[in-house]
Amino acid sequence: MGLLELVYDHTPISFQNLMCSGSGAVKYKQRYDRGYWEAREFCRDFDLWPLDRQLEYQREELARFVRFSYLHSPFYQRLYENVDVSAVRGPEDLQVLPVIDKEMLRANIDDIYTVPRKRGNESNTGGTTGKSLTVRMVPGDIQMRMAVLDNFKARVGFENLKMTRATFNGRHIVPPGQRRPIYWRWNAPCRQMIYSSFDLTEERLGFYVESLNRLRPQALDGFFTSMCDVASYMERHCIEPEFRPVAIFPTSETLTDAGRELLERVFRARVYDQYASSEGAPFVCECPEQVKHVELNTGVFEFRADGEVLVTSFTTHGTPLIRYAIGDRMELAPGGTTCPCGLKGPIVSKIEGRRLDFLYRPDGAKINAGNVSNLLKYLPNTIIRSQFRQSRMDELTILLEVDERRFEESHADGILTECRHTFGPDMRVDVCVVEEIPRASSGKFQMIVNEV
Ligand SMILES: [Zn+2]
Repeated sequence: MGLLELVYDHTPISFQNLMCSGSGAVKYKQRYDRGYWEAREFCRDFDLWPLDRQLEYQREELARFVRFSYLHSPFYQRLYENVDVSAVRGPEDLQVLPVIDKEMLRANIDDIYTVPRKRGNESNTGGTTGKSLTVRMVPGDIQMRMAVLDNFKARVGFENLKMTRATFNGRHIVPPGQRRPIYWRWNAPCRQMIYSSFDLTEERLGFYVESLNRLRPQALDGFFTSMCDVASYMERHCIEPEFRPVAIFPTSETLTDAGRELLERVFRARVYDQYASSEGAPFVCECPEQVKHVELNTGVFEFRADGEVLVTSFTTHGTPLIRYAIGDRMELAPGGTTCPCGLKGPIVSKIEGRRLDFLYRPDGAKINAGNVSNLLKYLPNTIIRSQFRQSRMDELTILLEVDERRFEESHADGILTECRHTFGPDMRVDVCVVEEIPRASSGKFQMIVNEV
């Protein structure tokens, strides 16, 4: 836990709102400067280009990106030692390059980075294997990614920064031991109310609903399971929202049909899903018809016969991803399928990504997979695999496969501190370093095993 968080935890809520707005202002400056607005304009134009021109752009960008990575990343220089990278002129040539996976990325991360730490923004990503991985992003890529996302939202009528949104995310905004039922903080520069995804218990959900009704947000976004918890509470208690959002934008989790219908029914607004990843994968976004399209200006997806996708992402200049087996499965719609929305990006008929696993806090609140993998984010690139096993409400066992070059005994204490923050003081937590974490009978690896 950082000093800033320590200060935050011991100040009044009004001051915590100021601190949220302060960190919002820092992010605002980083994400929404001139580069962002130029990228927004580019995305708007790109949507109108004919398919040929879009594909030509993708080919040129791909060739440029592969060359860039070869020149600036020692890892790719080694990996492509015996390959003529100039022969890669389009997606069809990618097969001359080797595939990389998550463990290669983690084990070689220092050689993959193309920029020193101070010139990039670091973000931590866990994913479904519970690996700790830190990617470095350059400002131009962050702005492009924000622009693609905001362009996706603008297509369905939501204008980010001008309209108000309610976000359910993994930030710890409610200090442990807070008595007042205020589980949200205001980020003024982004017109965003941040709602805690750690406090959604039956006794507290009513307060969330009251707050949403006061805020009257034009969009809901963030964790799908958290929004479903709110909607389900409203439906069970026959509470109608006193506002009607333009749209609902879930992130970070695979949607279920039942959850999507629940959200649309309760909030009388449509849900638009989008696929990206914290490592920086290219985007697949739902159009106004709720059909998933590849955003051709963000990278290349290779759809393999077994369903696994390989991604090459143009917005990863800091930590290049080329033919990266990201661990998600997708299916492309049959060739020739078009969409009445007019977008030309190829249509994806199915995405199987992150699963909706969760753990319980002793008071009954659910902690979703995204928040669970965040528990390891203070140990960058150290954890090869982790598994969180819960068999009682107040008992949690964490198994870790670690990289011995990086792991220190004190790291286990850091995890315990994070767990206290997330699960409260009543959870008994054991951290065990093991040789190998057992697989499920299906052979599949599970980050979360919830037997409660
Ligand atoms: Zn469409």
